[in-house]
Amino acid sequence: MSNNQYRQRLDSLFADFERLAADPACVSPSINHQLDELRARLIELETQFLESENHNSVQESVPQEASDKTIERPVTPILYEKENVGYAYSKAGVESLQASLPEITESADVITAPLTASGQMIGKMKIEPASDHPWTKEEASLVDAVAQQASLQIQNLRLLAATERARAEAEAATRQFMHENWDAYLDAIHHSERVGFAYDQTSVTPYAGKSQNDDGISEEVNVMDEHVGTLYLKPDPAHPFTNDDKTMVAAIANQIAQQVENIRLLADASRARAEAEEATRRLTHDSWQTYTVGKDLSSYGFVYDSNQVTSIKESPITQDVNFTQPLMVRGEIIGRLAVAGLKDVPPEAVELAISIAERVSVHLETLRLAEELQKRASELQTVAKVSTTASTVLDPDELLQSVVDLTKERFGLYHAHIYLADESWNTLLLAAGAGEVGRQMVADQHAIQLDSQKSIVARAAMERNPVIVNDVSSDPDFLANPLLPKTRSEMAVPMIVGDKVLGVYDAQSEMMNHFTEEDANIYLTLTAQVGVALQNARLYVEQAATVAQLRELDRLKSSFLANMSHELRTPLNSILGFADVILEELDGPLTVNMNNDLLLIQKNGQHLLHLINDVLDMAKIEAGRMNLNPEKFVVNLLFEEVTSITSTLASEKNNALFIEEASDRKLEIYADQIRLRQVMINLVNNAIKFTEHGRISICALPKEGGRVLISVKDTGIGIPPDKLEAVFQEFTQVDTSTTRKAGGTGLGLPISRKLVEMHGGRLWAESSGVPGEGSTFFVELPVEARIVDVVEKQVA
Ligand code: ADP
Repeated sequence: MSNNQYRQRLDSLFADFERLAADPACVSPSINHQLDELRARLIELETQFLESENHNSVQESVPQEASDKTIERPVTPILYEKENVGYAYSKAGVESLQASLPEITESADVITAPLTASGQMIGKMKIEPASDHPWTKEEASLVDAVAQQASLQIQNLRLLAATERARAEAEAATRQFMHENWDAYLDAIHHSERVGFAYDQTSVTPYAGKSQNDDGISEEVNVMDEHVGTLYLKPDPAHPFTNDDKTMVAAIANQIAQQVENIRLLADASRARAEAEEATRRLTHDSWQTYTVGKDLSSYGFVYDSNQVTSIKESPITQDVNFTQPLMVRGEIIGRLAVAGLKDVPPEAVELAISIAERVSVHLETLRLAEELQKRASELQTVAKVSTTASTVLDPDELLQSVVDLTKERFGLYHAHIYLADESWNTLLLAAGAGEVGRQMVADQHAIQLDSQKSIVARAAMERNPVIVNDVSSDPDFLANPLLPKTRSEMAVPMIVGDKVLGVYDAQSEMMNHFTEEDANIYLTLTAQVGVALQNARLYVEQAATVAQLRELDRLKSSFLANMSHELRTPLNSILGFADVILEELDGPLTVNMNNDLLLIQKNGQHLLHLINDVLDMAKIEAGRMNLNPEKFVVNLLFEEVTSITSTLASEKNNALFIEEASDRKLEIYADQIRLRQVMINLVNNAIKFTEHGRISICALPKEGGRVLISVKDTGIGIPPDKLEAVFQEFTQVDTSTTRKAGGTGLGLPISRKLVEMHGGRLWAESSGVPGEGSTFFVELPVEARIVDVVEKQVA
């Protein structure tokens, strides 16, 4: 470094310090505190720096003992590299001490003060008094203070410069990482290879050595808890690492991790962008290829001759083409614009052609996309139409037929048919085919073996994926069908519902390259919906068959019961009749035993007759053959009739049976009197049966909405609340032992409820289940029974 440079550097450094000192912010306590900390750190660093400082630079002026102390230390200049520097301040100003300059003579007047840093001598300061002004005592003692200040200042400057340099080096290293090595670095991340770089303060070089295990600092570089590398600092035997160094290395490792992550994200983003661009290009390329497939490219074009536009077929340009301009869409050439017949080609014409080509390309792409969109929309419409149709057809054959016919017509196919897999998953049997040919093939029971390698239909079923053959003539596996001679391309799409392949939908076209991946997706949606509709239709057919079977069984049961009850009633009536005759001793006198036996026959016979009558009623109701004959009558009269019929039984069980005071005696209703009497007798009989020494009251009250509420209340054993509904089911009895004692069939309440419901009413029971509190049975009826409705409902 030249003197001038040194000076400039010093000036600028001092200027910084002065600026700092002049800054009022510097005096704030927090800044002071920070400065103190910084100073302490600087002093610490200084110690280290000194260890490596060139001992020789100060040796000549260092006292012998100090020199002894530092003599073993390695020599690494820190700030003023390897050079002794010195400045002289005299009246003439500050001047650099050149080696050539005469040393200041040692004399009694010259005061020498050592410049020290952390107890080490780093230089010395000599002060010579002005010739006309000897030292005062104060001045002499001031010299030490000045020397100390100067030492501190030099120390600060040196450390500041060191820090500055370290920062610059770190920045350079980061830049190196970022801009020069990031690709390689990324590769390391992406391919999980081990790469490394060594930085030796001058350059970054690839590092291929093994990881170290000496005393260096090794810090993990983690990105989101993912270990991506290690930052390793080789130790310098002369520089043992301090704890602060380690903290700094850890902080740098952290910074590197963030940097690496940023770089990776950046690279990912650029790669994704590049991939997206590539994909768009490929898509454009493929889409244009698909679009032009089937069109005769050699003659696909138009000619404009300033008058009209004609097809290139009619007026082909064979000569005079001046120049051509490619039509490009996203970097893909989709065609050419040729200009012909010009005598000379002015540059404006070329420019015009270029701009026309650009416009035309964009327009063509827009048109193609619009066409594509329209095609997809119409295909989706077809899918919607087909699935709507499919969901309304409940016959599987009809459903499949409508699907093939509709798709053939809507998708403009040459042919379409559907194969269904058999239960054993061996064969695909043709279930429906479009048009006459299809029907013919179905009639011929056309089938394909599932393991047939050559059939694309079988392949689609086995692979559970659509199979497209876009040029059947070039496919050696294609099995030509004599009934479908024009097939040029074919697509087979599996019909999958859940994880089951029900069959295959097969579409054929007269054009080559008719089917695309996009089509396959649309057809897959279609087959999935048809599959569900087909399964529903099959289930419906199965269910309909089951319902028909059940109806038939029910009818048979009811008719059996009706017939049987009739057949049973006739002989039973005759048994009962003759038992009466014998009991009346019309055929001669009876012994006591004979009389008792006959009474038993009569009792059981009546029970049996009762049972048969109930079964017959039930059978009639279930078969919808129970007819009601409504008439108008006063409810109270019916009550009186019922109480008189049941009074004997009531008094036998010491029960009081009566019509309640509150009961409306004038209430009239329109209903089947005989059936209602049957209901009332059943309810009152039950009340008497399950009550001993109690009270049975009946009551009828008008209700809102043109209805009547009849109640039969007893104080008997009651019904447990959880059995209140069960008692209305056929043959259900709460406690068989009581009933056995009381007698009964378990059909009375179900029949009664049905009869009430046939009137458009309701029958239910309420009870606490506590013996003695009894139960109440309610019959709610419309004043005018809507019998016809009920009967119709029963029939339905
Ligand atoms: P059953 O001919 O056996 O009486 P029901 O259908 O008329 O057949 O009654 C069914 C069962 O309901 C009876 O067995 C009895 O357990 C219970 N039940 C009916 N009415 C009463 C009542 N008033 N109190 C207590 N239990 C009753």
